[in-house]
Order: sequence, then structure tokens, then C-alpha cells
Amino acid sequence: MKILMVSSEAVPWAKTGGLADMVSALSISLAKLGHEVKIVLPRYYSINKDQLTLLPGGMGTPMGGVEEWSAVYTTEMPGTTKRNSIDVYFIDHNKYFGRDGIYGNQTETDFLDNPRRFIFFCRSAFQLCRKLDWYPDVLHAHDWPAAVVPVYLKFAERVSGSLGGFEKTVSILTIHNLGYQGIYSKDNFDYTGLGWDVYYNAGFEDFNMMNMLKAGLYSADKLSTVSPNYAEETKTQYNGFRLDGVLRYRRADYCGILNGIDNKVWNPSKDEYIPVTYSKKDLTGKAKAKEALQKEFGLPLDPKVPVIGMVTRLTDQKGVGDLFGPTYGSVWSICKDMDLQFILLGSGESWCENEIRGLASRLSNFKARIGYSEKVSHLIEAGSDFFLMPSRYEPCGLNQMYSLIYGTIPIVRRTGGLADTVENFNEKTGSGTGFMFDYLSPSSIYDTVGWAVWAWYNRRNDIEKMRKRGMSLDFSWEKSAQKYLELYEATQKTMGIVTAN
Ligand code: ADP
Repeated sequence: MKILMVSSEAVPWAKTGGLADMVSALSISLAKLGHEVKIVLPRYYSINKDQLTLLPGGMGTPMGGVEEWSAVYTTEMPGTTKRNSIDVYFIDHNKYFGRDGIYGNQTETDFLDNPRRFIFFCRSAFQLCRKLDWYPDVLHAHDWPAAVVPVYLKFAERVSGSLGGFEKTVSILTIHNLGYQGIYSKDNFDYTGLGWDVYYNAGFEDFNMMNMLKAGLYSADKLSTVSPNYAEETKTQYNGFRLDGVLRYRRADYCGILNGIDNKVWNPSKDEYIPVTYSKKDLTGKAKAKEALQKEFGLPLDPKVPVIGMVTRLTDQKGVGDLFGPTYGSVWSICKDMDLQFILLGSGESWCENEIRGLASRLSNFKARIGYSEKVSHLIEAGSDFFLMPSRYEPCGLNQMYSLIYGTIPIVRRTGGLADTVENFNEKTGSGTGFMFDYLSPSSIYDTVGWAVWAWYNRRNDIEKMRKRGMSLDFSWEKSAQKYLELYEATQKTMGIVTAN
């Protein structure tokens, strides 16, 4: 199959979140399965074009009232072999991408011209295919910045009278976080070059604003999100960010496929950041990691006390209000009342960073590092006994999967991908892989951490079994890539498209 990934992020070139990891990892797995995958990205200012190859000739993209001219650069995805190489293309357009920041910067957190930047990017994906004379079977678009791709396909490129080439192409739109929708003034719509009938028929209209994700959700041939449970939750008013009605309407074409994890980077038997690697057959390396972690954070080197770890963006989505809220946060009481050590690595909202600094100065068993560190995040995953993730919502979540395979027991809220990957401890049978709660509140976090700490001191056998159960789980990308292939094939079938093989 020929697959074109259209995304605003992909590692190693541009990343603000899990989307970037997913696009590259999925592409690599699909290519390994024998499919022809290409990726198109904007050429952000931070991507050094000296390391890319310029394609001869420019590229004109017809937008409403203007033709935008851009250069196209290319390179191969690193770490792939000749047999399963992936061509990555970069749309170089100085007016839109010749500046610092992907979606915004310090002074302008959301660039005013974001709708135009990404509408242009979506349309340029089609022009790129024309330039390459390569037409994909599947256009796989990711999140709101690529959400107008399925709109162009359905209303401009696959219809009679178009320039042709995309008659047999189907579109998939994957939601990585429904909280971000690309809602802007409808004054930007003329720039799409589409008629105002499309504005209404494709579903851009949103209380007198233009909602790009919503139009993509109505227009894509099939929709997916990054875990089965998040697919269910987003169809409810509580978690639907006002688009639950659209997703219920599209329910027959909407599914959840769990993201995999990169087991070259996140693997306790190969991890380069921890003092001694380990596996479920021999956990001595884990004990060494705990010691190194306690040392790193200046805590007493005590193997008997449970260590609760956290690595997180400090934003409301992650439950930080209930953990660190100045008047009712639960971490203060957890650390005061329980015999444990609490270690946190994170950065984000400044009120929260300040609260955390305050807690760390008053509690001897609470240590925090404000910032971003790949190395420390690996040490926390390996060296902690429990990993806390009380997310308000979590489309997939990676950290709980890392925790499970590192033998670190997750304590999570039963939401999104957390509910798909963690199984609650059953005190009677000893089954389960983690500790879970349903309603996000300071007292439920307190009680559930308390439950885990109780089990640590009173149910050692069960704890050891839970660890090993987690370490036996398989979150490899191969499984997920296979499911995406099935989705691509099902889409072709639904659209009545039969490919040569
Ligand atoms: P989200 O994408 O919503 O932030 P995920 O759990 O899916 O949450 O993935 C977050 C990723 O970012 C994980 O790999 C996590 O370890 C990493 N991460 C988050 N904050 C930090 C930090 N301060 N330092 C290092 N890694 C971090």
C-alpha cells in the first residue's frame, strides 16, 4: 500500500508531544511490513535545510485568490534500511514557517496566522503528490493541523472536474488530543479556495467560528484515536470537548487503536540511562536504579520505603490541580501521613511549578526537579516502585506503559488509554497490574496512593507478582501497525475501492 502521513510533527524533526513519536514509529512499522510510506511536514525554521536535499523546481499551491510558491526538501527517515526506507518531505514556505516555534512562541503563544499556515500545508500535500507523480492509496492525517486534508480530498480532489490522481485515495484522520481543534475566525475560510457551500457541508461552522478538526471529522472516510477507551469516552458529553455529537454521528467509522512504545529506547534490558539493566528474571538492576534515584534526589538510600515517581507536563489535563492545588492538593497530606518517598520531574504551568517548589522546601520526603530531562525520566521509571498518573483525561498515555514494562506499578485514574493498559489490583485474588480510581479528586488520589502503600507493606507477594505481570506485557508498535493496516483496508472496502493486489 502507498501511504502518505500528513502531520505537523514527527521525530526527530519537530516535536511538542506524543503525536511526533507516533507518526514516525507507525511509519517505520508500516514500512517494515512492506508498505511504501512517505511523510510530509512543514519545513520549520529549526529544521536545518543544509541536511536535506532540495527537489528541483518549485511548487505552486493554488489557494483562495493566490498561488503560494514553496520549495520542497527531502531526506530519509533515520534508522531505516534501503528495503524499508521512508521518504520525508518538507514544505519550505518562508512566510509561514520561517520563524521560531511550531504553533507559537513565547510572545505569541498561538500564531495568528495558524489557520492559514496549516490550511496551506494541507493543500500542499496534494501538490506534492502531483510533483512526485505519486498518488497514495491512503492519506493519513493527524490532528487539527492536518484535518483539512480529508476535506480537500472529499470536496475538491476526488470529485469529477478535479485535476485527478486521487480517485482511489481514501482518508483517515487520527485524533491525538480532542482538546485541540484549530478554531479560528471564519474570515480565514476564503483562503482554502473552497466554496462556502463546502464550509457548511463539510462542517467547518462552529458558533460563527471555523473549526478545522470538526470539518475533518465529518469529511474523513474513517476516523481513529489513540486508544479504544478514549474512542468511547470522546463520544460522551463529559469527554467530547463539544464534538461528541459529531463522533457519535460517525461512530460506525470511528475506532481506537492503542499506540505502541519504542522498545529500543524504553526497555529495561537495554536502557542506557540506568546504572544496571534488568529483566523480569533478575530484578537486581531495578534495586540499583532505586538506589541511584534516591541518591540523585538526595533521599535516604532505603530499599524498604516505597518510592512514588511522576514524570509529567504540569497542566490541568494531568490532574495537577488535585495534586498540588494550593488549598486542597493531596500531595501535602500524602507525604505528611504516609511512609514513602515522592519524586517528581516535570515542567509546565508556573503556578504549579511554584507550588511544587514550596512543597519540596517543606517536606523532607518530597523531591522535585522542574525541567525536562530524558535521562532523569528513565531513572524515575526504572527506580520507582509506583508511578502516579491521575490524569483528568489521557488519549493514550505513554508513561504508564513504560512503568509496566519497567516493573513499576502504575497508580492511575481509570480514563482513556490508562483504562486500556492497566488492570486494577484485586485484593481477594491478587490479580491486576496497578491501582486505579474513577473520580478525580484529592481524596481519591490520597486513598489510592494509601492503598498502594498499604499493599507495599502488607502484600509483598502480590506486589512482586503484579510487577512481573506488567513486565510481561507487549506494547510493541508491530501490533498497532497491523491494526492500522486493517483500518486502511476496511476504509478502501467501505469506499468501494479495490487495489491491484
Ligand atoms: P503527553 O503526551 O500528554 O504529555 P504521555 O504520557 O503520552 O503524555 O507522554 C509524555 C512523554 O513525555 C513521556 O515520554 C514522558 O516521559 C515525557 N515527559 C513529559 N515531561 C517530561 C519531563 N519533564 N522530562 C522528561 N520527559 C518528560
